[in-house]
Amino acid sequence: MSTLAGKKALVLGGSRGIGAAIVERLAAEGAGTAFTYAGSKDAAAALAGRTGTTAVQADSADRRAVAEVIAAEGPLDILVVNAGVALLGDPLELDPAEVDRLIDVNVRGPYHAAVEAARKMPDGGRIIVIGSVNGDRMPFPGLAAYALSKSAVQGLVRGLARDLGARGITVNNVQPGPVDTDMNPADGPMKEMMHSVMALKRHGRPSEIAALVAFLAGPEAGYITGAQHTIDGGFGA
Ligand code: NDP
Repeated sequence: MSTLAGKKALVLGGSRGIGAAIVERLAAEGAGTAFTYAGSKDAAAALAGRTGTTAVQADSADRRAVAEVIAAEGPLDILVVNAGVALLGDPLELDPAEVDRLIDVNVRGPYHAAVEAARKMPDGGRIIVIGSVNGDRMPFPGLAAYALSKSAVQGLVRGLARDLGARGITVNNVQPGPVDTDMNPADGPMKEMMHSVMALKRHGRPSEIAALVAFLAGPEAGYITGAQHTIDGGFGA
């Protein structure tokens, strides 16, 4: 596997879960890969050591910190914005500060990171944001802020695809359904409820999401842009 040989990639939020699988896959495809993390220093160091990638601490809610990483690691051929947080609960009870934090990480983060990366990205570059099927469908209560943030990602990729198309840079949104990670463990309390609305009665594997990201980052995906790519086991079918 060397479809990305010679490419430079940065994954925002790569220390665990889907992001870690993306780091592993991009590195396996030959991309020189760096990734950021927020708090998981040990996991990040272990992943970097195992994959020959570079780990950098940077909070995706801090646009200056992220811009510094992008400048230091760039020019990037591939940017993957994976960092995201979820907040579950009655909106009348949730702490507004936590909602603002979610919007900072899940909405402001992808916007500013994509724009910063685009400044120096070579023609033909790739920007991929990890949204969620909840940008399309929200069949359960308690996740309004999260759904809001993932719907916002849809508009971001549509708009930026228009802004960057003349340079052959593609901008895409990958929308997973339930995937087995710390955020959404396959044996967690919401398992039955989630599987009840799915065509495939199982959580996805992080590597399954990473495979789609690798395709969109690769040479065969140059005509795909401004699009939402749902990979959800039929959650939204
Ligand atoms: P996890 O909580 O398992 O991992 C989140 C990753 O993002 C970690 O590497 C974490 O770093 C990083 N991260 C979180 N906040 C920040 C931040 N402020 N700055 C930098 N890095 C940060 O989540 P998942 O792997 O499950 O989710 C990854 C993405 O996929 C998210 O955008 C999520 O919304 C989306 N998604 C997930 C689904 C699921 O079912 N799992 C379904 C649909 C979408 P650290 O370890 O340092 O905290």
